[in-house]
This record gives sequence, C-alpha cells and structure tokens, in this order.
Amino acid sequence: MRHRSYACVWKTWVKHTMKYISTRGKAPALGFEDVLLAGLASDGGLYVPEKLPTFTDLDLQRLATLPYAQLAFEILSLFVDGEIENDALRDMINDSYAEFAHSAVTPLVQLGHDEWVLELFHGPTLAFKDIALQLLGRLFDHVLSKRNQRVAILGATSGDTGSAAIEGCRHGEHVDIFILHPHQRVSEVQRRQMTTVLDNHVFNIAVQGNFDDCQAIVKASFADQSFLPDGRQLVAVNSINWARIMAQIVYYFYAAFQLGAPGRQVSFSVPTGNFGDIFAGYLASQMGLPVKRLLIATNRNDILHRTLSDNDCEPHELHHTLSPSMDIMVSSNFERLLFDLYQRDGAAIADMMSAESGAMRLSDDALLAARRMFSSARADDQQTCDTIAECYRRTGYLLDPHTATGVFAAQQYAHVQAESGPIITLATAHPAKFPDAVKRSGVASCVDLPAHLSDLFEREERFTVLPNDAAAVQRFVAERCTADVEGKANQ
Ligand SMILES: *Cc1c(COP(=O)(O)O)cnc(C)c1O
Repeated sequence: MRHRSYACVWKTWVKHTMKYISTRGKAPALGFEDVLLAGLASDGGLYVPEKLPTFTDLDLQRLATLPYAQLAFEILSLFVDGEIENDALRDMINDSYAEFAHSAVTPLVQLGHDEWVLELFHGPTLAFKDIALQLLGRLFDHVLSKRNQRVAILGATSGDTGSAAIEGCRHGEHVDIFILHPHQRVSEVQRRQMTTVLDNHVFNIAVQGNFDDCQAIVKASFADQSFLPDGRQLVAVNSINWARIMAQIVYYFYAAFQLGAPGRQVSFSVPTGNFGDIFAGYLASQMGLPVKRLLIATNRNDILHRTLSDNDCEPHELHHTLSPSMDIMVSSNFERLLFDLYQRDGAAIADMMSAESGAMRLSDDALLAARRMFSSARADDQQTCDTIAECYRRTGYLLDPHTATGVFAAQQYAHVQAESGPIITLATAHPAKFPDAVKRSGVASCVDLPAHLSDLFEREERFTVLPNDAAAVQRFVAERCTADVEGKANQ
C-alpha cells in the first residue's frame, strides 16, 4: 500500500498495524516492542515486517532535504508504528546521532567520477555497527524500564558488533551484557575496545572457535533459554535483531538523496558478512528508493559470491582474513532475502534451513530474482591490499580493509558495466581499527586512533576464555545474570 502524506495518514488511520512475521512461517506475529526483545523467532526463523511501508516519488522528494536524524525519525517511526510514543522515539534518535563525530552523521566522499564512499564509521567505536547499536541500547532501556524487566543481552561478534553493542548498551540499567568473540581472531584494537570496558554487568567471552561457532552457540541459546534463571530472557544485538536492520535502512536513503534521488538511480557496494547491512539496502529499494544495483562484496570467505554466480551454496572452511568482520560462512540474514525470493513461503524456508548443510541450492526462479537486484565479487587479501594502495596513490584516501573489498567490487562492476552510474561503497570501518592491513598494503600513512581511544593500548583488559561448547557458555551466563549488579563480583 502506498501512503501519500504518510506523516499524518499513518498516525491516524493505521495505528499499531505494523506486525512482524517469521521467515519460517510458524511463530506468532509480533509488534515492534516484542520483536525488539525477541531475537530469533520461536520457530528458528527471523522476523521481517509483514508489509513494508513504501514511499512515492513525492514522499521521497520531501524526505530528500532532511538532516540525518530527522530522516531517521520519518523512516523508523513507520516501523515502530506508535508502540513507542513519537516524542520519545525522536529524542532517542536525536541522542543516538548526536554522539557521532561528523555533523552529517554519514558523510559522502567522492573518490572518482562515479565513485563514492559513504563513511559509516563516525560513531564511538569507529564501525558502522554504531549506527544501529547506539539506538538499540536506548530502545532497550526505554522498553525494559517501561516493563520493569531485566534481561541478558547475548551476542556473537566477528569483531565490531561486540564493542558497538557494549558501547550502545553499557549505560542501560536493565541489562547484563555477554559478548562472545572468537579467541585470537579479532584485531587487537577490536578486542581492546570490548575488553577494556570494565563495567560490572559487561562480560566478554573469548570462545575457542571461529565466528560461526560463536554464532551457533548464540542461536542455540536463543532457541532454548531454559538454562537461564527464572524471569530472565535473552535479547539479541546481532543482526538477527530486526531493529538493527531497520536502523541501517536510513543511510541508504540519506546517501542516495545526496546524489539526486529520487531523480537519479544509484548503486551500492556493500562489504558483506552476515548479510545484514546489504539486506537493509534491499529493503530501501523495496520501499521505493531508486536503487540500480546492490553489490555483495566478499573476502576469501565467498559463499555469497559463489551462490550468486554459480548457485554453489556449499560452506567451505572458514579463513582468517585481513577483513575479519566479514569472516563468516553462515550469513544469517540471507534467510530474510530467501523468504522474499520464495514468495514468502515460510514452510519452504523451514525445509531449506533444516536440509543437510551443503545440499542447499536455490531454485531457478529464486536465483533469477536475486540476480535482478544483486551482483557480487570476491577480493582476497592481496586484492584487498592492492585496492588500499591503488586508492591511496590515486586519491590520497585511506580505506580500511573491509571497505577496500567494497571498492574492489565497485571497480569490477564499473569495468564490466558501461555507464554504471554512481556507485556508493559503504565505508564500514575506520582504517585506524586495522593498522596491520594498512601496513601490509605498503601505504606510507599512519592513522592514529581518535582522541577518545588514544590510550586504548594502556587500558586494563578483562575477558574469560571458554571452550567452544554451548553448555559451558550457558553456565557462565546463567551464573552471572542472577545477582543484582552492585553486589556482584565480575568474572
Ligand atoms: C559487521 C561488518 C561488516 C559486515 O556487515 P554484515 O551486516 O554482517 O554483512 C563489514 N564490515 C565491517 C567493518 C563490519 O564491522
């Protein structure tokens, strides 16, 4: 359905009609607040809006002039749909983006004629995860204090989600935070950003496994929460949480508007791991934003690239790369796209997801539909370094290794596609987070951490190493989320 002057129509006519349904078709539909706290649906699926709000060109023209936080309110209020009062929501959005170091929140930088970079790393932990998690922390606190409820936040991180979640949620009064990271497989800056937060209700767990192992423990724990003490529930900060995807839709609109949308089509190249960020871009296009193409940029862990190019969905061994936040083989949010590709047939998705791993193939129709919107590319570590070096030589602009995979994909696409039009690569992290990759690129540039992190290497760290075993992690969580926070000895 199309909402012409949605700002008033939406509020008065269709209050509380935004429902969220599971991609596996069995779990009950929920409203926004319940979805915010739900994580995985009870049938193992992921929540998506039952109906997406859409914008007409006239709507888009009006939105195109708004500053970031106001645009965010206009878009997000459609998804929250009155479950949180508009004034409170507006305040939370304003507070979240006031934390950012750039007044445009997500500024665009031009590298070449049709070549742009959208800087998403001006938040407190220097990666794009802050954009959603600054808001998520505030939403949790608002809803939990209204419900007078205390919860355990449980999340897995390939490097950047952990610190952004801790930074976004640490001031909440109703949460204990448990973050799993793969032991010795995140960069030192990434680890220290998490482990030097010594608040009593923040627990960092280094799992002796890789990111997929961490994510599997988190998913198993959400599926069966009986290990928790009575009255506690888990809350998700990974991109299985709908509210994270929702917050990421905004910058696709914001960036496209700066380059002339709705009067002009743009493409986006997205460094991809769990498929959350690029799925938000897909939603933006489904909501009416004129997006020409979405480029899935992968590193050596290229299952999404293989799926799109050869219908090869077989998981390979996970490799440790220079872009660790993309070292993921099982991309959770791909299920949200599959749900649409299979005409929202929850039973079909449930079947696919329970099939033997490796046996999965997309139907011809689904593959065709995916290829209408998405292209993909894969950059190995050498190509990543070459891209950092080439870009720096040509423009003086320093890319982080994740962003470099995106720029690589954008260049490949522009190469095969004459008149590609503007391509915006999402700059997902600040290069100071990954000094080793920058050094390996041979770029004679040293990037300092910003002032608020300048003493990061002197700070005390605290974390617990646990085996790659769900029961061990669950025991640890259960023991630490019972006591009241003040009286509790940390780890
Ligand atoms: C998380 C992350 C990604 C991958 O984003 P997904 O939403 O998981 O696809 C890419 N780059 C950086 C720097 C990240 O932190």
